[in-house]
Amino acid sequence: MEFEPVIGLEIHAQLKTETKIFCGCSTSFGAPPNTHVCPICLGMPGVLPVLNKKVVDYALQMGIATNCTILKKNRFARKNYFYPDLPKGYQISQYELPIAKNGYLDIEIEDKKKRIGITRIHMEEDAGKLIHDPDHNMSLVDFNRTGVPLLEIVSEPDLSSAAEAEAYLRKVRSILRYLGISDGNMEEGSFRCDANISIRPVGTKKLGTRTELKNLNSFKHVGNSIYFEINRQKELLSENKEVIQETRLWDADKNRTCSMRGKEDAHDYRYFPDPDLLPLVIDDEWIDSVKKNIPELRDQKKERFINEYGLPPADARLLTSTRELALFFDECVKKFNEPKQISNWIMGPLLGLLNSKGITIEESPVSFENLADLLKLIEKDLISGKIAKTVFEEMGETGKSPEKIVKEKGLAQVSDSSVIEDIILNLMVENAGEVEKYRQGKTKVLGFFVGQVMQKTRGKANPGIVNKLLKEHLKKK
Ligand code: ADP
Ligand code: MG
Ligand code: ZN
Repeated sequence: MEFEPVIGLEIHAQLKTETKIFCGCSTSFGAPPNTHVCPICLGMPGVLPVLNKKVVDYALQMGIATNCTILKKNRFARKNYFYPDLPKGYQISQYELPIAKNGYLDIEIEDKKKRIGITRIHMEEDAGKLIHDPDHNMSLVDFNRTGVPLLEIVSEPDLSSAAEAEAYLRKVRSILRYLGISDGNMEEGSFRCDANISIRPVGTKKLGTRTELKNLNSFKHVGNSIYFEINRQKELLSENKEVIQETRLWDADKNRTCSMRGKEDAHDYRYFPDPDLLPLVIDDEWIDSVKKNIPELRDQKKERFINEYGLPPADARLLTSTRELALFFDECVKKFNEPKQISNWIMGPLLGLLNSKGITIEESPVSFENLADLLKLIEKDLISGKIAKTVFEEMGETGKSPEKIVKEKGLAQVSDSSVIEDIILNLMVENAGEVEKYRQGKTKVLGFFVGQVMQKTRGKANPGIVNKLLKEHLKKK
């Protein structure tokens, strides 16, 4: 029997707010353990949570950007469970009335578009962090992360391969980053994902029993673990064994998933509306103002770069890989309207420079103004394309403007015909034999003379003028 995989993802994205979701504690990363805590996020008796408006704003942005319906009346619920990193004994989350639901986004797989449904997006608080110390045979808990705001983004079981799951994840991350509401960093834990996987006979509709994979903290782990799990389930079913509904962990060292615990059902959590928080009512005005401020996202930018600037799709894809890079390109084009030339310079020398320095475009020593100015110098014939590469290298090292570098290093192109002519005439006297060869039809000698002129001018002679004058003089009798 042939089986097809069915995959749904639950993504947790940490939101980039200054303070936590229900108290004023800082969300900043890396502080000494238990220094960003207060009675509210520690769950002391008698305290009351107060909702951070920014969190709602960010959730609305994500809901709108993923084509969701916004629930104008939504509310928070308590999800009850015990774990040492959860001091209150419950997590404040949303349950039957999340802030957004029924959205979608489109992914592209081998140039084919596929629409993936988004079941719901809800706001919730993060738990603390356990640090296991095997040397002292104990575990420590850091509550700095307790109460940091999260968005949970739940997909429909519409994904059917590890590659699709990865494309979807990247799409969600790109939207979060373009909106500027999350770092989306898997390795640092600000972007986490659980994968739910089942298989079913091809052609059938009924969903099979699923397993849930946790502990996926890199794109590589997501891909590998889903791939492994699909095959594990196929093997079980083909041996007439059953898939057990359970939570499994990805073991990256052993390259396999292993059982962690039986999967709990929603009723195990005894969800109920949080009596400490009022229902959240969102008016049209709020929704409209968020809508108006949604920036151009990657797909739209890509389209615009192709349609308006006439860029090849591969260029558009690369230039929109981050919002900051796309902005750099856009600003550059505003100053020098030759999109493809700029694209070539960004994709080649500039990204090469950033790569070699291990920095991002925001940290680039070459500003968009300076790159545009460099291209203007080439256009005005003030420097040759070859010298421009030298100037660019210097820009990368010093951050200076191209004009300044050209002036300081005496790199301006020699376009003065009389200067070039003098050099040519001298060379012809010194190399009379070569001149004779040329006149007898060995026109290849031209290259030798071009090389000589360039050497004498340290590469600065205007190649067009050099060629023109050389041909004139070599022909003459
Ligand atoms: P929870 O895991 O918290 O119980 P849900 O039941 O809402 O939450 O499901 C979470 C995710 O699992 C969703 O992304 C959903 O699409 C996916 N999912 C549900 N059933 C299946 C299934 N049989 N096979 C694959 N994915 C599934
Ligand atoms: Mg789940
Ligand atoms: Zn606090």
